[in-house]
Amino acid sequence: MPPRLRHTQKDSTEKALKGSILDHLAHSLGKTYEERAPRSLATSLALSLRDRLVDRMLETRARFRAAGAKRMYYLSIEYLLGRCIGNNVCNMRLDEHVDKILSDLGVTIDEMRELERDPALGNGGLGRLAACFLDSLATMHLPGYGYGIHYEYGLFKQVIEKGRQVEKPDYWMADGMPLQLERRDQAVLVPIYGRVEDHYFPDGSFLPTWVDWEDIVGVPYDVPIVGFGGKTVVLLRLFAAKASESFDMQIFDQGDYIKSIHQKVYSELVSKILYPSESISFGRELRLVQEYFLVFCSIRDITRRFLKQNRNIDEFPNYVAIQLNDTHPALSVAELMRVFVDERRLPWERAWELTNRTLAFTNHTLMPESLEMWPVELMQKVLPRHLQIIYEINRRFLQQVELTFPGDVNRLRRMSVIEETPVKQVRMANLAVVGSHSVNGVSALHSELVKTRLFPDYHALWPKKFNNKTNGITPRRWLYKANPSLATLISDALGEGWVTDLDQLRGLEPLADDPAFADAVAKVKRGNKALLAHYIVSTTGITVSPDAAFDIQAKRIHEYKRQLLNLMGIILQYLRIVEDGIVPPSPAVYVFAGKAAPGYFEAKEIIRLILAVGQTINRDKRAADLLKVVFAADYRVSVAEKLVPAADISEQISTAGTEASGTGNMKFSLNGALTVGTLDGANIEIRQAVGPENFYLFGLTTPEVEDMLSRGAYNPWDYHAAHPEIRRVLDALSAGRFTPGDPGAFHWLHDKLLSPNERYLHLADFMAYVRTKDDMLRDYADTRAWTAKSILNTARMGVFSSDRTIAQYAREIWDIHPVPPEDAK
Ligand SMILES: *Cc1c(COP(=O)(O)O)cnc(C)c1O
Repeated sequence: MPPRLRHTQKDSTEKALKGSILDHLAHSLGKTYEERAPRSLATSLALSLRDRLVDRMLETRARFRAAGAKRMYYLSIEYLLGRCIGNNVCNMRLDEHVDKILSDLGVTIDEMRELERDPALGNGGLGRLAACFLDSLATMHLPGYGYGIHYEYGLFKQVIEKGRQVEKPDYWMADGMPLQLERRDQAVLVPIYGRVEDHYFPDGSFLPTWVDWEDIVGVPYDVPIVGFGGKTVVLLRLFAAKASESFDMQIFDQGDYIKSIHQKVYSELVSKILYPSESISFGRELRLVQEYFLVFCSIRDITRRFLKQNRNIDEFPNYVAIQLNDTHPALSVAELMRVFVDERRLPWERAWELTNRTLAFTNHTLMPESLEMWPVELMQKVLPRHLQIIYEINRRFLQQVELTFPGDVNRLRRMSVIEETPVKQVRMANLAVVGSHSVNGVSALHSELVKTRLFPDYHALWPKKFNNKTNGITPRRWLYKANPSLATLISDALGEGWVTDLDQLRGLEPLADDPAFADAVAKVKRGNKALLAHYIVSTTGITVSPDAAFDIQAKRIHEYKRQLLNLMGIILQYLRIVEDGIVPPSPAVYVFAGKAAPGYFEAKEIIRLILAVGQTINRDKRAADLLKVVFAADYRVSVAEKLVPAADISEQISTAGTEASGTGNMKFSLNGALTVGTLDGANIEIRQAVGPENFYLFGLTTPEVEDMLSRGAYNPWDYHAAHPEIRRVLDALSAGRFTPGDPGAFHWLHDKLLSPNERYLHLADFMAYVRTKDDMLRDYADTRAWTAKSILNTARMGVFSSDRTIAQYAREIWDIHPVPPEDAK
């Protein structure tokens, strides 16, 4: 029987929606019709959408409950949502109504869109993946929820001052966040610090007791996530840290008012800022507290929901699946054990079985600097009971290893959850692997490397635990919303089914050579490039021609992603133009976008070099119609939505074996850019899918890279000696050609690229890269052939929908099933 809701639900006709907007303008914002500025209309629209989202959210919750469905909870320290209003309008299928209403009210949707700040509660790929997954869960009517932290300050804003990146705080809620719902009534009390006392039951059994803890309050904020079609709304529940009143009062009673205020300020610090690095472990107490805060709040919420159903605790894994997005929430292993053993009083073995069957772990990177470890001493201070539990987990686990591999002391040392030297540390990745029933990588190559390089001992012990789930992206945001002209063209040709069944894009294959369709696709691309050109000139002052090839590298600035390789190629092309008089087969505009972690010197220097090279080239009349270099500041989801539809060439050039998957590569290819890429991450699968003839491959393979690095056989001077092109670029760098006022500015880079310790092998791949790019620019000049390849890229990217990824997680790891509403079955 369909669940009953007794409140009056809002209808979504154009008339009702407009009435709602005007009603919120007056009653929520206190403004008259005459005072309707675009910003207040944006807020009124958001509130009107929220009313409708809440209706569907309540209906969805009742539906999942009535079905007694198993739920999946996604724990992630980051969510990179991007703007929500436009996405909600699209997914609720209200685009036409909203366009019409807004134009009646005298504003355009684009004008309003630009007013919404991106909620940037993530750094890059990992957080964006979590956001795409939520969209897919809701679209596929799957009972899944996201849990995260309600940071007060999101990822810093990047501004360029005097040719460098400068970071500014991102107070993303400055204009309110009208879409979220505060849930004070469901706040969670989070115990932390204190010590463990040994107590005993009357029967003599051991009862360790956590005492003298302090507490922080976690207040949930719910962000409704609506699936395409507007039927199912799942929740992203973000916890904000607040001081606990009771705790304040305790100290207050002791007369130390100032101390109690200090404690309050400290408590609220926990959700104050997002740590601004990707793939780097922090080792800071506040970060450990953040991770624990997320884990405690989420698991408290999950167990509360489970217990409300009056089921036997042994049924927990039949109703709850928890996915750990990287190791940041790996404390879940200890926290679930604490709940089962200390609170529910289960015997250890039973608690362990339940924990293991509930948890699953996704690894995101192989980089050694990203492996999280927490000093035992710190954990003893912050989480004394959890540390004790981790030690007991490890003791029992090592016993099991000893049984399987007797006497293998080195193996025990490698597999231990505790690293003994030089300082005792908890290895969070090991904890996550030991405590989970599934461990997955995020592309076929990466998942192999997880088995062979990262966790070979664990793979030998538990081969069946390891699996692959290649990442995906949501076609709703990354095609339907970001590229409306291409989406319309596709829908005119194939109908709209592709939006929720991306494999249907295959239907475009026969149209790749259809002159009328190809012309239309080329026209759409040119239109998108003109829009981007407009954005570029208005934000940077640089004029670029939409007739040039748009070559884009947009992603975090990181040495392994090799923005430098791209830049070296540009420098060579520039020198050939101005010194050799060589005219490239087609003019090119190179666009870079990306943030550098504030403490990452090399990355910030790379930005400075891009800007310096750009300034020299863009001013040089000899290169004026042939070459431009742009740095688009403050890369974020809303900027990605402008870049992706306008790219002809997508740069995916990381050193083989370093990029776990990449998802930027998928966005570009889906929108018809051709990739220049290495055999790394999901590039390999993209190339297979679109066909090698529609993908520009270059560079060393992972085994070649591994071999070179492990033998110490990389000698950059060999490449320097063999290739005049390399000497030419490096000489220009060391001579200060791009920094006339400061000729030594980039000498260190010259030295670095020539150092045998340069881990990313720039010079080894440079010539292959240059040749491949030359081929590309030549091919680009043949519009017909290029457009056919572009269409085939779009047509064959269906498998990279996050709907496919989520369907695999649901079937192979979570065992959850769609619970669609009656009218969507
Ligand atoms: C997709 C996306 C990323 C990830 O890009 P990669 O090229 O996979 O590193 C990072 N940031 C933003 C804003 C994105 O949209």
